[in-house]
Amino acid sequence: MAARILDGKSVAMQIRAEVKRDVEEEQKRTGLAPQLAAVLVGDDPASHVYVRNKIEACREAGLRSQEIRIAADAPESEVLAAVKRLNDDGDVDGILVQLPLPRHVNRVKVLLTIDPAKDVDGLHVINAGRLALKLDGLVPCTPAGVIELLERQGLAIAGQHAVIIGRSEIVGRPLAALLLHRDATVTICHSKTRDLEGLASEADILIAAIGQPAFVRGEHVRPGAVVIDVGINRVTDLALVKDVYGADSPRVAQVQDRGFTLMGDVHWRQASEKASWITPVPGGIGPLTIACLLRNTVRAARLRREPAAWA
Ligand code: NDP
Repeated sequence: MAARILDGKSVAMQIRAEVKRDVEEEQKRTGLAPQLAAVLVGDDPASHVYVRNKIEACREAGLRSQEIRIAADAPESEVLAAVKRLNDDGDVDGILVQLPLPRHVNRVKVLLTIDPAKDVDGLHVINAGRLALKLDGLVPCTPAGVIELLERQGLAIAGQHAVIIGRSEIVGRPLAALLLHRDATVTICHSKTRDLEGLASEADILIAAIGQPAFVRGEHVRPGAVVIDVGINRVTDLALVKDVYGADSPRVAQVQDRGFTLMGDVHWRQASEKASWITPVPGGIGPLTIACLLRNTVRAARLRREPAAWA
């Protein structure tokens, strides 16, 4: 079976068009477009690219944005002070602290300092708790994107066995809650799981969020399963690239030209032969993550302006 492509890019475009309309409405109603503030600490090149893309996406959607840059060696107190200033700034609706943070800055402390009503990444304990209790709140963007993709493609969730590989607080755990709330039967696997291959191969919906290129191979995929690849890995190993995409794939030239290609956590060639649907990397979950961030920013603005909307 040759899997059909789950086109995250086009679903993301739909969401972004909806956000744009919502922003216009919000601007008409209040006179101001919602504003996102992104805090970027240090010099990690990938983080710079991510923040630049998010700011650009805000601009396209008509959202206002600002970027706060903090030096890699700045003390933790400076990061906390920046977040507190944004909390107190009535003109800022959403706060995003780009991860990872430098080692000497306590990530949990920073995330807990963000006003939960402005926490557009949905990582504050209040929002995580609201999600666990199935209450309205701000939901982490990548898991929200996975759900949007499945639902807008018309793929069943209720009654399906979803197996998630990865239990991070940013992807695996919140995604498990969202699937459970939609009546899936959910199994979460991680590095200590026994017989991961056996569990994965029972999945109707198999989701990989591991951070290991091509980890999920043909043996992990039940024939006809829906495969969602959240992973984004920079791969330079030409032999692996040839194995995953084929020796004549444009990916091979990409590695030769620019030194790397982006590969998911799923072995593309092997999984495509067995799955019914599969997400590409890039062009799968990545664009949906950004679209859901924009949507969360509008949502945060509305929730702050009408606190009664919090159930
Ligand atoms: P983390 O490193 O926080 O978590 C990885 C998870 O995978 C952990 O639960 C870990 O298990 C599990 N894991 C690692 N190795 C194995 C293994 N050999 N067998 C079974 N489980 C394993 O990663 P994230 O959740 O932050 O990210 C995962 C991937 O998704 C990365 O490639 C990242 O770049 C990508 N990503 C993509 C996004 C997008 O927009 N598309 C957004 C966020 C992330 P344990 O808990 O036991 O250590």
